[in-house]
Amino acid sequence: MRYGLISDIHGNLEALETVLAGLNNLQVDAILCLGDVVGYGPDPDECVKLVQAHTTVCLMGNHDDAILGDTDLSFFSYVAREAIEWTSEHLNPDSKRFLLQLPYTYELDNYLFVHASPHEPHEWNYITSWEGAEQSFQAFHQQACFVGHSHSPLVVGRNEHGAMQLHQSYPISFENNHRYLINIGSVGQPRDSNPAAAFGILDTAKQEYTLMRAMYNVVKTQKKIREAGLPGFLADRLAEGR
Ligand code: ZN
Repeated sequence: MRYGLISDIHGNLEALETVLAGLNNLQVDAILCLGDVVGYGPDPDECVKLVQAHTTVCLMGNHDDAILGDTDLSFFSYVAREAIEWTSEHLNPDSKRFLLQLPYTYELDNYLFVHASPHEPHEWNYITSWEGAEQSFQAFHQQACFVGHSHSPLVVGRNEHGAMQLHQSYPISFENNHRYLINIGSVGQPRDSNPAAAFGILDTAKQEYTLMRAMYNVVKTQKKIREAGLPGFLADRLAEGR
């Protein structure tokens, strides 16, 4: 089976449509979404509808959780908070109902999927150090764990002796006795200095993962962000992938 993996769409309809068209061309068997369908972008309802129609699983992200109202918004930056409040006001009840019931983790074959970290799926931790990576490896038993959340693609491999290394070239063939922590990047707001939408392909027969990038109409999304009255920084950052 070949799975398309998407995450952190953040209400960016142009990016999502481009990625879904790419996955359709690649004829994947199913699409899994690792969360943050909304927040930041101008088209949250449209993105929820497309995710509902095209994915078999969608996980809860911290922005999805926050617009539902019971998160302490002081954990978010000023622009994130503004966007969460805007999204919460504009999102229709059907979309909210969909987001409310999203699970935090999903397991498939020998793989685990979670929005932020397998260590504490409800706590929205960022994995930013070798110690954090090790803590994550201790928290799952599958061969690979796929995450989103940071918006920067990254693959850490760990051998049977506990030695970790970064993998920078794709595709990555899973080796026996090695385990992997894989950040698939963001569809709607990449932050690795590359503005192209990021997504992944997991081939369970070949035991292989690859990162994909697709350029979309950034200018159109930027215009919509400004017209919606969302913070201008959210439009500016898309052009630079930051
Ligand atoms: Zn996100």
